[in-house]
Amino acid sequence: MTPPDFRALRLAPEQEDILLAVRDFVEGEIIPRAASFEAADRFPDEIVAGLRELGIFGFTIPERYGGMGLDLTTYCLAIEEIARGWMSVSGIINTHFICSSMLQLSGTEEQRERLLPLMATGEVRGAFSMTEPHCGSDVQAIRSVAVRDGDEFRISGQKMWVTNGLRSGLVATLVKTDPDADPPHAGMTCLMISKEPGVAEQGGLTIPPQLHKLGYRGVETTELVFDDHRVPASAVLGGEAGIGQGFQQMMSGVEVGRANVAARGVGVARRAYELAIRYAHERETFGKPLHRHQAIQFKLAEMATKIEAARLLTVQAARAKDEGRRADVETGMAKYFASEMCKEVVEEAFRIHGGYGYSTEYEIERLYRDAPMLLIGEGTSEIQKTIIARGLIARHRG
Ligand SMILES: Cc1cc2nc3c(=O)[nH]c(=O)nc-3n(C[C@H](O)[C@H](O)[C@H](O)COP(=O)(O)OP(=O)(O)OC[C@H]3O[C@@H](n4cnc5c(N)ncnc54)[C@H](O)[C@@H]3O)c2cc1C
Repeated sequence: MTPPDFRALRLAPEQEDILLAVRDFVEGEIIPRAASFEAADRFPDEIVAGLRELGIFGFTIPERYGGMGLDLTTYCLAIEEIARGWMSVSGIINTHFICSSMLQLSGTEEQRERLLPLMATGEVRGAFSMTEPHCGSDVQAIRSVAVRDGDEFRISGQKMWVTNGLRSGLVATLVKTDPDADPPHAGMTCLMISKEPGVAEQGGLTIPPQLHKLGYRGVETTELVFDDHRVPASAVLGGEAGIGQGFQQMMSGVEVGRANVAARGVGVARRAYELAIRYAHERETFGKPLHRHQAIQFKLAEMATKIEAARLLTVQAARAKDEGRRADVETGMAKYFASEMCKEVVEEAFRIHGGYGYSTEYEIERLYRDAPMLLIGEGTSEIQKTIIARGLIARHRG
């Protein structure tokens, strides 16, 4: 698969330079190491150190807070490159990116000045926590509660599936501050909870051992158990004005997160295609290389076409956000299409590998386990279709 044509995507030379540096890093540092980290389910500290040097954690953070001030479009294309190397690495970045986006959009100036410079260097990395054991899609059904106690909030409840739950130093956490509110979202608040990275017990917060997953290994996904855990009232995103605004703030974070997941889908699918076409040249059946069989050619043609289409949808969604337009429909379409496309393309690449695709010796096996995660994270395909339809119907009304 030819990599994206930056010229056709109308990128500025500086954007191209940054993306080429990311691509070099992926080739040199991620692809050769991914298999061993993944097999051991080990967090890739060495890769993260390199990402920090590249400035990835501050990619979209404004320069005045120590970041690179890049737009969502460049960020998404960088994520495509990184996910092509190993999807888990893009997962380490995604919740951090969501968290920093929420601070930029909804934080007070004091919160931005205090937190964004630390996030820009990757010294503090962010996590994002809405889901609970009994609810994921139905966010308004959360039960975790934070009770005001003078200058503090006391949090009780359980969070589930928190990517980067242990190693993060800041967790954007959705809680109920008014459990009786009607509608429920009006009583929800986002707390930016600072914690010691890597420490499983602190105050009233316990982080149980990481969940075991089909794929998406190397990056930890955990529960967070709050038992009367105290945080300062200054943790409320947006200060006092942010009380009761948490649901909308989290949704704005998820919206940009969807562009990230779409970009990941393009990256993983691009890698699957590359592996498939390489294998189709190496393997011979019935006296000729696989790629000379028309059935295989059709698969390759369909795979490449879908990847290009998904990238265009992703870039279109990112550009809409960059231009300050509402983009729930666009990010929903990109996330829905790219994640479904990724699963299909990976499966076709797996089929092209025949029996060897089932062997852990071949990279496609890892991609086959990683791809389904994209159907779930940042909202399932069913939820994306609901969002797309709701948005389209509202636009039709005018
Ligand atoms: C590896 C991993 C990492 C994750 N990381 C995070 C994280 O960092 N932070 C975080 O907050 N969450 C995270 N999640 C949680 C993820 O966002 C949820 O799993 C997801 O939103 C789906 O929620 P659920 O699992 O509760 O499924 P449910 O909501 O129970 O849905 C079950 C099924 O029913 C369908 N469904 C539900 N409601 C409807 C409806 N109204 N109409 C039609 N179909 C419907 C769904 O599409 C799905 O197919 C992660 C999940 C995984 C697997």
